Amino acid sequence: MSDETIYYFDNNATTRVAPEVVEAMLPYLTEQWGNPSSAYSFGNHVGESVTEARAKVAALINAAPREIIFTSCGTESSNAALNSTLITQPGKRHIITTAVEHSANIKFGQMHEKRGGEVSWIPVDRAGQIDVHELQEAIREDTAVVSVMLANNETGVVFPIEEIAAICRAKGVPFHTDAVQTAGKLKLDVKAMGVDFLSLSAHKLHAPKGIGLLYARQGVAWQPYVIGGGQESGRRGGTENVAYIVAFGKAAELAMASLKNDVDRIRTLRNRMEDSIMERIPGVTRNGAREPRLPNTSNLNFADCEAEAILLLLDREGICASSGSACTTGSLAPSHVLIAMGVPPEHALSSVRLSLSKYSTAAEVDHLLDTLPAIIKKLREASPKTSRVATQKISQ
Ligand code: PLP
Repeated sequence: MSDETIYYFDNNATTRVAPEVVEAMLPYLTEQWGNPSSAYSFGNHVGESVTEARAKVAALINAAPREIIFTSCGTESSNAALNSTLITQPGKRHIITTAVEHSANIKFGQMHEKRGGEVSWIPVDRAGQIDVHELQEAIREDTAVVSVMLANNETGVVFPIEEIAAICRAKGVPFHTDAVQTAGKLKLDVKAMGVDFLSLSAHKLHAPKGIGLLYARQGVAWQPYVIGGGQESGRRGGTENVAYIVAFGKAAELAMASLKNDVDRIRTLRNRMEDSIMERIPGVTRNGAREPRLPNTSNLNFADCEAEAILLLLDREGICASSGSACTTGSLAPSHVLIAMGVPPEHALSSVRLSLSKYSTAAEVDHLLDTLPAIIKKLREASPKTSRVATQKISQ
């Protein structure tokens, strides 16, 4: 199936690579293949391109270029930040994070617990929001780091990061935020947010998979996670992925140039999609707060329908979306995010995430609106509890 025949509603999983981004990166796979660390000019030129890209991604989040560490992905960025806080503060073994983080954080926390460390998992309410006071109360003398995502990948709910960062700063505890879902969707300013660490991933911003960054505030204690050469000013070993770094820089530049227009258009389209689905189909409710929420994300519960069956029938119409459930070793488990919100497991297994991007069109939404009501009707008529026909991961 070519991308012209797909109707793509899964932009929180990954995004289409922008043609301008492909064009910018290609020379680094053909003519400009030197090592950016080499002393001769063939390598130097490549090194300069990495420097330019660093300045562009730094500008996207209002950081200084030296505060950017390029990594292989968002997962590595978050792992590296948490790991560094534990190693640079050997007496501190307590992590605070939320119950609704991406598995990059959840699994890191679980591993930390297995190694004898402690984690406070801050719960969320029915709207998917945390209680900042509860988080504040959880901070202890031995807290090494607080890590709270800027926006949730499943519901789009946005967390009060500035407020949390201020609390952490007052207590002298490093604060990390996983901002992977927010690039190109929210205006990002690390200085205004007051964070010590922030993770981003290029493939959510119309650049390729396999390149990410960690913002590490100037002066924050740092211990590399990937240990090796002196790349990234000694903060991450490994020869730089030049083509993808250039791609990330270009994607950041494009996002900055059109953020306001893109976001306004995406929000209007998302609201029309969500409101129309709820109007046209009975028994549909939204999971998570209406606001504050990412402008592109909608997580909807379809009563008495298995999400996996909905997704299978949507797929037959060329429509790509994700379920609110994750599959573990072949058996479907409800989404940990929805369960943490107090959504009953059967509702969690009836939830579908639809996420847009700047490339989403009104025609795509119209196709979904023309197709979905009949699918839901058919499934409800067939059986109130349709069989679990497909397995699909959402924890993207
Ligand atoms: N954090 C969040 C909130 C995400 O949605 C994702 C997406 O997959 C990640 C982290 C991981 O990013 P990456 O795929 O670059 O490792």
